[in-house]
Amino acid sequence: MIPGPFSYHRPATLADAVKLLASLGDEARPLAGGHSLVPMMKLRLATPEHLVDLHGIAGLKGIRREGNRIVIGAMTTQHELLASDEIAKSLPILHEAAVLIADPQVRYRGTIGGNVANGDPGNDMPALMLTLGASYALEGASGARVVAASEFYQGAYFTALEPGEILTAVSIPLPAAGHGYAYEKLKRKVGDYATAAAAVVLTMSGGKVASCAIGLTNLHETPLLAADAAKAVIGTSLDAATLKKAAAAAEAIMSPAADARGPVEYRKHVGGIMVTRALTRAAGRTS
Ligand code: FAD
Repeated sequence: MIPGPFSYHRPATLADAVKLLASLGDEARPLAGGHSLVPMMKLRLATPEHLVDLHGIAGLKGIRREGNRIVIGAMTTQHELLASDEIAKSLPILHEAAVLIADPQVRYRGTIGGNVANGDPGNDMPALMLTLGASYALEGASGARVVAASEFYQGAYFTALEPGEILTAVSIPLPAAGHGYAYEKLKRKVGDYATAAAAVVLTMSGGKVASCAIGLTNLHETPLLAADAAKAVIGTSLDAATLKKAAAAAEAIMSPAADARGPVEYRKHVGGIMVTRALTRAAGRTS
């Protein structure tokens, strides 16, 4: 299939992009890497009349440290995340997850901003952002604001973005020194979205879990934080009974779609296994 007709705009500044989106109205969409939007257009599931390409805006790229946070420009590609020494050192879970996204061709074009703004429950970055306590910088005709990732996702493809608003950056607090991390993703084949995936960031003290956050991908219409599962492991040494309890608590909040990746019960079951594996691997990485 080929997309329907559209006009193409390439503003050079964020202010121009915001102005353009406001003046073009509901039928205009920002274009980032195009690796979610263009396939939807080819299937005629999205038919924007105007695409506002963000590639001309230099200020939307880059990875920088700001105090105790890492700030990533929205147009930074998944490939650039993988190539970044700062990400490998400070946010290794992002590196671990990014390499599991699709294939090199997609990662060369796909951006972190597009991945988190899209609202696709299958995208991997949103659950990581919940797990890491990230926030998103947004800019629109009525000004700039910051929204916590935990407040951003409202339904499948439905987010806190107002019409015409651009997500400009993702800001992530540095996890504690010596933290353990893991992203476990079950997929049918290389290049597929997750059948189920779990992100874990935790710290240990004296052999017991001191803090823990668990995020879930593609197990609900939005990414999820499994707060009860995380609570269940605090103060434990992650023995077999605790892991079972945590998996059950996580499964209790999952409501995945039944699709080609399997029926609901199967996806919940493997979701629980992803939680168990991620907890175990994260604990083994603490120092
Ligand atoms: P685009 O496709 O350009 O945009 C996506 C949507 O977000 C559009 O509605 C657009 O208007 C909006 N948008 C984009 N940027 C902004 C912004 N800065 N502000 C406001 N709105 C914005 N992803 C995964 O996470 N895991 C996978 O396993 C995976 N597998 C894939 C396999 C294939 C074969 C393909 C083609 C894609 C796959 N993807 C996967 C999706 C890929 O990571 C996309 O690149 C990503 O989801 C969207 O990023 P993008 O930069 O391409 O955004």
